[in-house]
Amino acid sequence: MGLNQVLEKIREVKVFISKDAAKRDIEAIWPEKELNVLKEERLTGLVVPKENGGYGLGLLALAQSCEILAQGCPSTAMCFGMHNVGTAVLAAKATAFHKEKFLEPIAEGKHLTTIALSEPGTGSHFYFPQTKLQSLTNEELKVTGAKSFVTNGGHADSYIISTVAFDPGADPFQFSCVVLEKSQENLTWGEPWLGLGMRGNSSMNLEIKDAIIPSSHLLGEKGDELWFVFNVVAPYFLTAMAGTYLGIAQAAFDEAKNHLTSRTYSHSGALLSENPILQHRLGSVWAKLERTRRLIYHACQDGDNGNASATLSIMAAKAEVAACANEVVNEAMTLTGGIGYQENGLLGRLLRDARAAHVMAPTTDLLYTWIGRNLLDQPILSD
Ligand SMILES: Cc1cc2nc3c(=O)[nH]c(=O)nc-3n(C[C@H](O)[C@H](O)[C@H](O)COP(=O)(O)OP(=O)(O)OC[C@H]3O[C@@H](n4cnc5c(N)ncnc54)[C@H](O)[C@@H]3O)c2cc1C
Repeated sequence: MGLNQVLEKIREVKVFISKDAAKRDIEAIWPEKELNVLKEERLTGLVVPKENGGYGLGLLALAQSCEILAQGCPSTAMCFGMHNVGTAVLAAKATAFHKEKFLEPIAEGKHLTTIALSEPGTGSHFYFPQTKLQSLTNEELKVTGAKSFVTNGGHADSYIISTVAFDPGADPFQFSCVVLEKSQENLTWGEPWLGLGMRGNSSMNLEIKDAIIPSSHLLGEKGDELWFVFNVVAPYFLTAMAGTYLGIAQAAFDEAKNHLTSRTYSHSGALLSENPILQHRLGSVWAKLERTRRLIYHACQDGDNGNASATLSIMAAKAEVAACANEVVNEAMTLTGGIGYQENGLLGRLLRDARAAHVMAPTTDLLYTWIGRNLLDQPILSD
């Protein structure tokens, strides 16, 4: 099945996930039923290689899937997005064991994973984890540390955790990823974190205290560090977010357009869509949305084609979509008047959800700084 057919399926799921999106937001309910539908359709295998039973798709498919899903429920799109980021990290250098244990069940819709990079200590500097990875024997590793804001927290079947090497003689900041299973001992989940938006995410803190894992749960080679950050984690993480926030902007645009084409004044019989100022404002919103969409798609296509310039474009795409989503939702709220300003109405929810775009790492400020450093030949991760 190719990209277009997969997106057709995603559109069908979007209709289903739209139904209770408001309730999930208000009550901060993790979208279990909604993710189960994605599992049943085997869409959890979006980025699993074809030889492991998946669709073998990449960044463009991830962006477009999250974009469509976010138009129905942004929290579900984010949960699905983070599952795919975790899957991409699992697939990047998968061993025969990883394929059988994780990738094949993911492709069969039997396993949900997620990515846990952020930590309370290092915050938005997710590429400097302090969670320690120590070799005990050739067969066993010990993981100790704390993760914050883990999407799908407490619900996923596995967690992709970033760690720093703790072995004597290891390079400072030697970054490795490991996979922890849900059944792993010595994991303690914090209280659910109640965000302003993205409230169905189940973002939770996780404490990992001397968790002993088989060495087979190490992903890639010890110290793959920058390769993992820039070739897998960052492009997939940024793309999942870019697609989701683009979908939020599209949903707000549709709501505004719908209001302009249906609101008639009783004193004049005029439709709002006949007003030249509102025509101009809607046109300007559309232009913002369209240029951001094209940047995201273009960056993802470059990434899928392995073009070296893709990394910068993908960073720019996430930074730009954060601004776009916030501006578009705000403007849509103005265009829909008092109806749009309703507490917990669609636009109110989208406004709260869109606000997370700037603070989700890599944050907007860090992304522009990284792009600037790259253009100026300065070291990117200097703080
Ligand atoms: C809804 C939601 C879902 C999330 N899901 C996940 C997830 O699934 N997995 C995961 O790993 N993480 C997740 N996160 C965490 C997120 O990605 C960020 O790591 C976290 O929100 C930012 O960390 P912090 O709050 O400690 O911010 P801080 O690190 O305290 O940063 C505060 C501000 O300072 C700015 N700042 C810091 N350093 C610099 C600098 N050098 N230059 C310029 N500005 C700087 C930052 O940009 C930010 O604006 C999620 C967050 C949210 C809100």
